[in-house]
Amino acid sequence: AKYVYDFTEGNRNLKDLLGGKGANLAEMTNLGLPVPPGFTITSEACRHYLAEGSTPGGLEQEVAEHLDALENRMGRKLGQADDPLLVSVRSGAKFSMPGMMETVLNIGLNDESVHGLAKQAGGNERFAWDSYRRLIQMFGKTVLGIDGELFERALDAVKGRRHDTDLDAGELQRLVETYKGIVREQTGGDFPADPREQMRLAVTAVFDSWNAPRAVLYRRQERIPADLGTAVNIMAMVFGNYGDDSGTGVAFTRDPGSGLQGIYGDYLQNAQGEDVVAGIRNTIPLQELERLDKHSYDELLAIMETLENHYKDLCDIEFTIERGKLWMLQTRVGKRTAAAAFCIATQLVDQGLITLDEAVTRVTGDQLAQLMFPRFDADADRKTIAKGMNASPGAAVGRAVFCSERAIELSGQGEDVILVRRETNPDDLAGMIAARGILTSRGGKTSHAAVVARGMGKTCVCGAEDLEVSTEECRFTAPGGVVVSEGDLISIDGTTGEVFLGEVPVVDSEVVEYFEGAEPGSELVRAVDRIMRHADAGRRLGVRANVDTPQDAARARRFGAQGIGLCRTEHMFLGERRRLVEDLVLASTDDERQAALDALEPLQKADFAAIFQAMDGDPVTIRLIDPPLHEFLPDIVDLSVKVATSPDVTDKDRELLTAVKRLHEQNPMLGLRGVRLGLVIPGLFAMQVRAIAQAAKEVPGSRPEIMIPLVAAVQELESVREEAVEILAETGVDALIGTMIEVPRAALSAGRIAEAAQFFSFGTNDLTQMCWGFSRDDVEASFFSRYLDLGIFGTSPFETIDREGVGRLIEIAAKEGRATRPDLHLGICGEHGGDPGSVHFCHEVGLDYVSCSPFRIPVARLEAGRAAL
Ligand code: PEP
Ligand code: MG
Repeated sequence: AKYVYDFTEGNRNLKDLLGGKGANLAEMTNLGLPVPPGFTITSEACRHYLAEGSTPGGLEQEVAEHLDALENRMGRKLGQADDPLLVSVRSGAKFSMPGMMETVLNIGLNDESVHGLAKQAGGNERFAWDSYRRLIQMFGKTVLGIDGELFERALDAVKGRRHDTDLDAGELQRLVETYKGIVREQTGGDFPADPREQMRLAVTAVFDSWNAPRAVLYRRQERIPADLGTAVNIMAMVFGNYGDDSGTGVAFTRDPGSGLQGIYGDYLQNAQGEDVVAGIRNTIPLQELERLDKHSYDELLAIMETLENHYKDLCDIEFTIERGKLWMLQTRVGKRTAAAAFCIATQLVDQGLITLDEAVTRVTGDQLAQLMFPRFDADADRKTIAKGMNASPGAAVGRAVFCSERAIELSGQGEDVILVRRETNPDDLAGMIAARGILTSRGGKTSHAAVVARGMGKTCVCGAEDLEVSTEECRFTAPGGVVVSEGDLISIDGTTGEVFLGEVPVVDSEVVEYFEGAEPGSELVRAVDRIMRHADAGRRLGVRANVDTPQDAARARRFGAQGIGLCRTEHMFLGERRRLVEDLVLASTDDERQAALDALEPLQKADFAAIFQAMDGDPVTIRLIDPPLHEFLPDIVDLSVKVATSPDVTDKDRELLTAVKRLHEQNPMLGLRGVRLGLVIPGLFAMQVRAIAQAAKEVPGSRPEIMIPLVAAVQELESVREEAVEILAETGVDALIGTMIEVPRAALSAGRIAEAAQFFSFGTNDLTQMCWGFSRDDVEASFFSRYLDLGIFGTSPFETIDREGVGRLIEIAAKEGRATRPDLHLGICGEHGGDPGSVHFCHEVGLDYVSCSPFRIPVARLEAGRAAL
């Protein structure tokens, strides 16, 4: 295998191998942009290292050859005493994991080459010693595993109240000695002086950082597979810390919050690497670079335009200016908010850069779901206590907490929390995940808090500089003497950047209002409208709703549902009607049972009629009653206690208890439910079918579909079907009769079952439960996190269809069912029907529709459109 690629050898399509950073550095190199020369070690080498514990054979040789070539090209050797080449060693996985893995700059410095570097820089001693102390600090922390605080404290001790740029050469030289002492103390060995050894150690440290706890957590959150590994980029150093004619910055080609075109970025003079995002000094807005260095500024804007036109998308970049010369250190298609994603996609269409088809692929169902979140009520009373940057949109209300641990603790107790920090760093990740929103007092739109929150779709306000945050005392002070302590309620608006005291009421999103029927007004809603229309026009999958009330049915229709794919009937037996169900269960004679059913029938008929009305001629799949009967009866423990202790126990209570005991099951999900109930309790299904037929007669144009749950064998279905056909014939009503496929045996005998079914609807909740043997009510809370850690699956199979197992059952059933009955109609009505990945699967295996809860309908429409492209 080839494990090392020069930047001139790669391109942007090689992300699997070279990681995002490496692939894009190669792309920029090939575009002729000013990228320092270098090479990339593949993620394949990393995977080998992680699996075997050693680098693959031949890697060292290949790296040495590429380093030789780099040295020849630069005319200096790595760490050469009188004129050193220095390199950076940077991580870069296929999917960006901001700040989660390691980077080491200035590799190649030691006690000799530091003098050579000063000479190279025209006698700039200060710069050379600053670079050296940075190397020991970064190397010590990331490669040698020393607590970074130790270095920070030593730096602070020298710096006092000054900036790092105020330290002179002598102070920095002494700091280097202090740092070397820390290394000796902490590791029992000296800082490695051999440049090639430094590089080799840095490379394996980057490999190892793939499995750092925060990287593992980030991947799980972002659903990035655990086994990809990271590539490593080795690049000739360029220096932003030469002096005031140098610096480093980050920029977006347009606003990642709104999509607006303009100049968005931060710049920091006389700085290196992470300084910009770490918030060590205040950055300046990128616009001000024009004043400082017009030549570099103009070149940067031209490059940004080149990149946008080339990638046909928003890009973010990192750059460094070394003594007036601009260098590009990174670019990638940038992360953006959900709103910006829609706006940018349609802007690019208008600019003629992409087609509407492409625009549909540029947005996701998850982003659309985010836009359907509520926002703060503009008319409500509210007390603004600060304003920061609108880093990630949404409206979050919660109790202020000041550290990750408390965020996790309180949210674990069911409290909504807002994590408040001066700034966040990767160690805060777990707290950020636990929080409803994130508020920081420092850092801009490119700060860690902002980038990570946007990626997670979490509300974030950052850089609210008026807030004095004391994490030690667990409180913050706002102007006017307002003090917010841990546990106090605050509200933050990630769309405007406002921070409010107390709880502000929230209202529906404008996107939801649009789906409810409002005219598209804002740019965002117009963009959503355009993209949804195009997705609808292109999709093959129908989208139906899982609803069981006329109100929800009406909403689902407004959201674009083309029918009801699952109308559960069990909720219709609750409340007042419980008593009738009790009568049914307690009936000891046929007459008593029939009386109970007769009482239920008109009620059911009215239920169905109202739903048919709401659906106005669209198909309505009604599932006959499914859950075990005891779910409609009093709790066995409560009732036992009552019968044993209460003075006014009636005979009916005693009878009921006997019945409850009789119906009690150890494993009710696998017990007397679904079609089994229909076969065991005479007249129950017939009553429901009759109610459906009567309702259909009453509402002309209605299209009922009768669905039998939990069928495993064609014989079960046949006997229910015969009865239903008879009732329909008596009433003269036309209705399809079909079944759910939610027992593995049904999937495996689908060819037979299709003889008696006009449609199948995959009940993937039960199908997953029974295929895996996972109790759907218990496992997610009990051990799924361990399974996710172990990589047994990347997402819960209850959330996204497990293609290998459950998916295969669906494929078999679809194929064999259609072999029997070519016009067999196929749908899905488990929770997966509204999950983006599962919608794509349903498209691929040729289902006719997906059915999901009302708020997921727009998501399913969009994803069905994307799947068809
Ligand atoms: C299913 O099992 O996927 C299903 C839709 O039915 P329920 O969730 O009601 O069991
Ligand atoms: Mg089910």
